[in-house]
Amino acid sequence: MEPGGFAFPGAARGGGEPRMNGSPECASPPMPDRAQPGRANRVVLTAIRLGARVLSPAGRRARLLVLAYHRVLPHPDPMRPFDADAGTFGRHMELLASAFRVMPLTEAIERIGEGNLPAHAACVTFDDGYADNYDVAMPVLRRCGVPATFFVAVGYLDGGLMWNDAIIEAVRQARGPSLDLRSLGLAQYQLGNDADRAQTARAILLASRYLPFEARAERVRRVAEAAGEKLPVDLMMTSTQVRALAQAGLELGGHTISHPILARLTPERAWHEIYEGKRRLERIAGVEIRAFAYPNGRPGLDYDASHVDMVRRAGFAGAVTTAWGAARAPFDRYQLPRVMPRDDTVLRAGLRLLQAYRIKGEVCGRDPEAAFAPAADRAAP
Ligand SMILES: [Zn+2]
Repeated sequence: MEPGGFAFPGAARGGGEPRMNGSPECASPPMPDRAQPGRANRVVLTAIRLGARVLSPAGRRARLLVLAYHRVLPHPDPMRPFDADAGTFGRHMELLASAFRVMPLTEAIERIGEGNLPAHAACVTFDDGYADNYDVAMPVLRRCGVPATFFVAVGYLDGGLMWNDAIIEAVRQARGPSLDLRSLGLAQYQLGNDADRAQTARAILLASRYLPFEARAERVRRVAEAAGEKLPVDLMMTSTQVRALAQAGLELGGHTISHPILARLTPERAWHEIYEGKRRLERIAGVEIRAFAYPNGRPGLDYDASHVDMVRRAGFAGAVTTAWGAARAPFDRYQLPRVMPRDDTVLRAGLRLLQAYRIKGEVCGRDPEAAFAPAADRAAP
């Protein structure tokens, strides 16, 4: 913890037991749970805490829940239906602070190594390095006293834009009632309302995600051109914001430089992305980077055993995937599964997490978006 940083209770080794609810600083400004206000909410939190302790006791049967987020939107956005908004995220953090033992990911990894994982342990992670992680999520984390780990694809800091975001933002801003992309081998899409635009963006994303690297970059450029608007340059964090996260006592993690699908790279290129991504992030933040998240993250599909070995040799202490579930013995510290609770009430999110304790780590088909990732295959342009 840097001087002047704010305290995350879980950030100190052996951080305390969850506060039993009523953590007013967490719930303020108000983040009412639509389904479970007031006292009923406390009953729900108590029940989930007890359930989590039963399903994940300390000792040999301990399990680890790692929550995964990408963007945390200031307000719900029909163009990004899979991303959490501030209200939902606040309820999730209230749930975690009250019912789980939240700790930084590298502490959980260390404790797994020592066979010393506490009961109902959980971690919070963010992928890619979006600016709203700093602007929207960090104040909520601070209010709730929840530590977190931010996996940053360093190549997009300071004005970069990932290819899927470029498509979404181009369609959002396109003028007129339709967008004619027939010259790109696509279709003429309707833009009459929010639902049309969301559907259009999704159709273009699905039609573009498996294009070769250069062809996809060219398609992104031409879609943006057809939409006729300038794309945003402030979607990702700045280097200064990344440094501020570290100085605030939050944890940073490696996520490569340009967010490629590692399994599609030569070994030399994959090593460069993993190792140089770590070094560049360390130079920016001035701290050692010890955790890693595989881009796109599906075991055996987006990366393989050779990349797990590279992550180990690059000096990381552990890594997370996008397989769905809770880690359990025998733990693989370099392939920890995660969960993404999209549910917008404390009750539903809590039940989702309890349910995840029973799942070892399932790969959700060839489309992580369907069950895990918030917006799209996150491969970089
Ligand atoms: Zn990612």
